[in-house]
Amino acid sequence: MSDYVRKSLQNLDLGINDVPIALPAALCGQAVNANRYSLIVSVVNPRKQNLKAIVNQMPKIWGFSDDCRGRVLGNGRVLFIFKTGESLQVVLRRGPWAFNDWMLSVHRWYPNISEETMKIIPFWIQVRGIPFQFLNEAMVNYIGDQIGDVAEVDFDENANLVEFIRICVNWNVDVPLRFQRNFQFGGDENTILKFKYERLRNFCSKCGCLQHDAKECPLTFDDQPDMDGDD
Ligand SMILES: [Zn+2]
Repeated sequence: MSDYVRKSLQNLDLGINDVPIALPAALCGQAVNANRYSLIVSVVNPRKQNLKAIVNQMPKIWGFSDDCRGRVLGNGRVLFIFKTGESLQVVLRRGPWAFNDWMLSVHRWYPNISEETMKIIPFWIQVRGIPFQFLNEAMVNYIGDQIGDVAEVDFDENANLVEFIRICVNWNVDVPLRFQRNFQFGGDENTILKFKYERLRNFCSKCGCLQHDAKECPLTFDDQPDMDGDD
């Protein structure tokens, strides 16, 4: 019998109709308690972001070597279990994070967390170029809504210095980044607003995708017949 056949035979449903095994409530409670403060980390570029290296190095990068330990889940994901909720919150607050120069998406783990949620990276975006006469909180919120799913806005109408305003947007890693856009303030004249993503690392300069660089961009297929095998 080949290994392959042996493995697939283990998928037989023999046993499924036996009496269910009820696990003790106290045991379940203990386990849930031990895993209560967990972060799930997803890579954007699996070819450049080694999961074991993430397990070893992210606790140091976060400054919580003694307070958390990681487990490789596979499929581009690592789970970090923290001893306290405080350190977990600090990691979330100081994000977004990167590893080996590519972004990570980091979320508090909970049962049934969705794939869509794990694709989100909350980026603080600096927006430059709003004409001063149009600058107020309602306008900032409206512009934020055009950029994406706004999580938070950092704008003080009474601030003396407004070189740029900051908007935190829940960015889905499947959506290419955009760096400028024309807006029309009360007329058909275009005003360019520019966007700068804080703590952004590598991305594709051809299409704005966070998951590959320009060399690997599918958009280069036409003008670059000799794709190199660089990884
Ligand atoms: Zn690309």
